[in-house]
Amino acid sequence: MKFEPKLQETRWNISHEKEIWKFWQEKKIYKFDPNAEKIFSIDTPPPYSSGKPWHVGAAAHYSQIDMIARAARMLGYSVYFPIGMDRNGIAVERYAEKRFNISLHKLPREEFLKYCKQALDELEAEMIEIMKSLGISGDFDNYYQTDSEEYRALTQATFIELWNKGLIYFDTRPNNYCPVCKTTIADAEVVYEELPAKLVYIKFRTNDNEEIVIATTRPEFLCSCQAVLVNPEDERYKHLIGKKAIIPIYEREVPILAHPIVKPEFGSGIEMVCSYGDYNDVILFRELGLKEIIAIDEDGKMTESAGNYFGLKVEEARKRIIEDLEKAGLIVKIEEIVHRTPTCERSRNPIEIIPMQEIYLKQIEFKEEMMKIAEELEFLPEFHRQLLINWIKSITKDWPVSRRRYYATEIPIWYCKRCGKPHVPKPGKYYKPWKEKAPFERCEYCSYNEFVGETRTFDTWFDSSITPLFISKFTKDEEFFKKIFPITIRPQGKDIVRTWLYYTLLRCYQLTGKRVFQKTWITGYCVDEKGEKMSKSKGNVIDPIPLVEKYGADAFRFWGASESSLGFDFRASEKRVENASKFITKLWNIARYVSQFPLVEDFDESKLLPSDKWILSELKKTYERCIEGYKSFNFFIPATEAREFLWNLFAAHYIEMVKKRAYGDGFSEEEQKAAWYTLHKVIKTLLKLLSPIIPFITDFIWLKMYGDESIHLQLFEERIEVEDLSSYTQKIVEFNSLVWKEKKSKGLSLKDGIEIEIPTELQIFERELKAMHNIL
Ligand SMILES: [Zn+2]
Ligand SMILES: [Zn+2]
Repeated sequence: MKFEPKLQETRWNISHEKEIWKFWQEKKIYKFDPNAEKIFSIDTPPPYSSGKPWHVGAAAHYSQIDMIARAARMLGYSVYFPIGMDRNGIAVERYAEKRFNISLHKLPREEFLKYCKQALDELEAEMIEIMKSLGISGDFDNYYQTDSEEYRALTQATFIELWNKGLIYFDTRPNNYCPVCKTTIADAEVVYEELPAKLVYIKFRTNDNEEIVIATTRPEFLCSCQAVLVNPEDERYKHLIGKKAIIPIYEREVPILAHPIVKPEFGSGIEMVCSYGDYNDVILFRELGLKEIIAIDEDGKMTESAGNYFGLKVEEARKRIIEDLEKAGLIVKIEEIVHRTPTCERSRNPIEIIPMQEIYLKQIEFKEEMMKIAEELEFLPEFHRQLLINWIKSITKDWPVSRRRYYATEIPIWYCKRCGKPHVPKPGKYYKPWKEKAPFERCEYCSYNEFVGETRTFDTWFDSSITPLFISKFTKDEEFFKKIFPITIRPQGKDIVRTWLYYTLLRCYQLTGKRVFQKTWITGYCVDEKGEKMSKSKGNVIDPIPLVEKYGADAFRFWGASESSLGFDFRASEKRVENASKFITKLWNIARYVSQFPLVEDFDESKLLPSDKWILSELKKTYERCIEGYKSFNFFIPATEAREFLWNLFAAHYIEMVKKRAYGDGFSEEEQKAAWYTLHKVIKTLLKLLSPIIPFITDFIWLKMYGDESIHLQLFEERIEVEDLSSYTQKIVEFNSLVWKEKKSKGLSLKDGIEIEIPTELQIFERELKAMHNIL
């Protein structure tokens, strides 16, 4: 008999990945059937086109989301896996400004929007290409965009619904404001950073001429100081309470009050209250009934109230006032400290607290219900539940949803030109109030017939928090909605738990009264070789495209899956992807070896030899552990279990044990067939087990060796019923290693004969071990 491998090429050629992708598309093998009995739906994060090249972590993240879809299919579900693109918001505008060298504030709105759209189309095309090259099995024919008319109409309809429910209101109150993005932002978009700061100890006087010292990192706020506080328990300062303090430079008198919020150990133990240094000041102004003085304007510059510093940028004003105080001998000392500074998530600029009129969505009154949802929702892994719980607990304000930006969904409101009362239109259409005529004849309140449209847009999270409603065709196709809702799984990164996850749960609850997801799946951060977060400034960001081009999507995906257990941070480097590619090579080599033997599918398993039964018992264990891993969508488990089995047991021991038998050397025909049966059974099972993680090579091998139906149409339904001989594993491994060591030390080749005793506990394997090692 002549043995010819069915896999002819001696090496796996990654250019096959492209052919296989085409084959999948032609055969439509990932088609979703909404009438299937078991439906599994994924609310895939629509990637945000912000102009940055796709980070290696994002590529790994999306490959793993694809593994969720593939695993669910093999577990017997019809999988709804829509792909979307998040195309609204500030980052898009910024990118367009850079890309075309334009400025939002200098171009007519209409024209600026055209540039944004063009920039988005370019970025999107690129992202789609990357997703395809990674083998993502989502529905690319019907991908959605959050800036499409249909999507924006739904965003607006949900706003109108919440408006009608009385959950929306206007308010002018101090809020986080980013002077760079020129808009109010929500607490969820604020990131705290440890930044260096100067703690300046400034001399004040009291009205009876006692010198007191106040330490502050924001001396430019002296102009808006309205009170000075001491702790009522602080013996040093009790005598000051009730007196007045005179603000240096401005020579204005403010009351000295007692308040327990003051920490005696910070600075001098005396604090000034200004509008607004931080959110504590906001609370104190309200509590103490102080009148606010606006120190900073919308451009991040000092207002007239700052006197000599009027018109200066905040940092410049700070520098100048320190100089002036120094000249006047009013500074005791300056300490260099590290200050936990609130910054804007997008621009990374320190935020200011400025009162502006904004539109708010109520969330405070939903905290209890949200907590209940956070407790009921299944978290994979469980330990990330705490991120959501902590966030909900920390919420103290309603959500300001209006933004003073252009490229986002317009807030559908018109105001009566006479009485100023707001009017919202009927839901269902996409409205652009900044340029469209109001869809009403007369004001409901004063019957006037002229309106002015709202110019502001929504916070991007207001759009993206309804992705599950959009994909489940909420209000559009009731029958479909019933089948899909609630969504099975929301996969996402841990960095957007307090934004995307929280806002989605909130909004969908407000709109449907239900919890929108059955489970959520949360990944950690992708960090560099040393465990540090990747950032442009550190120069350690890795581009995934060259890695995929060099090592193939499978190697890239295998690296992502095998790098760390679900939810933990994972490390990225070219070396790691290269290592993963060695496993792909190993798989190819082993499958190629097995492919030379005829496929035996029916065989009386009771007639298998002990070594066959042994490896099949190990295969069964591996199989069961992998399936457990797949059921919890933790791909680290199947990736590492399958690799361990394939490399360290199957290839290292079993294949060596059956080599002669598989070629018919010294064994009966039936015994030879038993080897063929076992070799194929192992490879077939392993290919299936690995196919969600490395979909290209497994399908290629499958099609060459096991028929013309894609491996991705198979199910996990292996039955391995053999006598359990897995208790021999360690002894077999030890004995083989011992023999190889002996031969090596005696200068013998592996084929050379050797005299060595087979341990009694391995007697049942005697014939096979003798053949394997040529034991004399
Ligand atoms: Zn900003
Ligand atoms: Zn009116």
